[in-house]
Amino acid sequence: MSTVSAILKDKGEGVVAIEPGASVLDAARRMNEHKIGCLVVTQNASVIGILTERDILTRLVAGEKDASRTRVADIMTKDVLCCAPDTPLLSLRGLMQRSRIRHVPVQEQGRLRGLVSIGDLNAFEADGLNVRIHVLEEYICRG
Ligand code: AMP
Repeated sequence: MSTVSAILKDKGEGVVAIEPGASVLDAARRMNEHKIGCLVVTQNASVIGILTERDILTRLVAGEKDASRTRVADIMTKDVLCCAPDTPLLSLRGLMQRSRIRHVPVQEQGRLRGLVSIGDLNAFEADGLNVRIHVLEEYICRG
């Protein structure tokens, strides 16, 4: 059974973060710059929130707030669901489905080790299935 560490091995541990006092405009620009849909909010190296494009849509745009005057802390989600490097991928998928989230930071002993998105999980599992199909095709064709 593969775990989150297998995805981090391919993807690396880099996490794009932002400070709670930054404006949502800066957060959106940072997301665009990195072509991502989520920022982890950190203060003194601790994870204190998460901000995704969904938050910008539902809490800023639909709330008719000004992106340059609204702080990340005002619209971020504070109770962050995290996983560990040894979390099985099946459990991670279950967490994402149950909680209707697409991004999960990876923490180990209080240290941020990476972030896994639903896209990372799907790509990793699709690669594994392709390898398995290839092996089975080889086996059938040889037989
Ligand atoms: P997403 O589908 O990841 O864009 O997120 C949908 C909603 O869930 C947004 O309000 C996010 O702030 C929140 N969210 C996303 N990831 C997490 C997480 N790991 N823990 C807690 N909330 C999250």
